[in-house]
Amino acid sequence: MNGKIIIISAPSGCGKSTIINALLERGDIDMQFSISATSRKPRQGEVHGVNYYFLTESEFRSRIDAGEFVEFEEVYPGRFYGTLRSEIDRIINGGHNVVLDIDVAGALNVKRLYGGQAMTLFIQPPSIEALRSRLIGRATDSPEVIEERVGKAAYEIGFAPQFDYSVVNDDLAVAIGQVHDLISSFVGK
Ligand code: 5GP
Repeated sequence: MNGKIIIISAPSGCGKSTIINALLERGDIDMQFSISATSRKPRQGEVHGVNYYFLTESEFRSRIDAGEFVEFEEVYPGRFYGTLRSEIDRIINGGHNVVLDIDVAGALNVKRLYGGQAMTLFIQPPSIEALRSRLIGRATDSPEVIEERVGKAAYEIGFAPQFDYSVVNDDLAVAIGQVHDLISSFVGK
C-alpha cells in the first residue's frame, strides 16, 4: 500500500505545529513528519534535522539546481523553504504516511503532483486580530516580523477554499480532535 501525504497549511501562529505535534505524540495515526529545508536561521530551541534542515542560501540554491526539491518557495523575502524529495520517499518507502507543514503555495503544488494520494488541510485563526494577539503572546518575533506575518496571513486565508478541508482553531482541543478525525478517515481509506 502506498503511504498517504497529509499536507497542513496555516498562517504562522495558528497553532499548526502544536496540532501536528499533539497528533504525532498521540501516535495512533501512522504518520511521520517531513522535515523541510530552510535558509532561515534557527529559532531558539530549534534543532537541525529535527525541526528543519537549516541550510545557507547558497546551499539551498545548489539543491534547487540539483533537482532535490519536490517544491520550494521563497515564503518571505530571502528566506527559502522546501520539501526534499528524499524526505517524502524515505517515509513513504518505509511504509508510512507523511505529514507536511508547508505554506499555501507549496501545499497546492504538492497536491497537484500527488493528486488523490494527498490531502490538503488548512487551519484558520478565529480572526486576524486573534492571530496578532497570539503572535505577540508567543514573543518569538519582533513587531515588524509580526506585522509581516499578519499581512501574509490575510493573504493566505484567501487560499482556504482551494484546500480539501479547513478547520478553525478557536479551541485547541477541539481543533486537534477535528484534524485527527479528518486525517484518520483519509489514511484509513
Ligand atoms: P516558520 O519560519 O514559522 O517555521 O515557517 C514559515 C512558513 O514556511 C510556514 O507557513 C511553514 O508552513 C512554511 N514552510 C515550512 N516548510 C516549508 C516547505 O518545505 N515548503 C514550503 N512551501 N513552505 C514551508
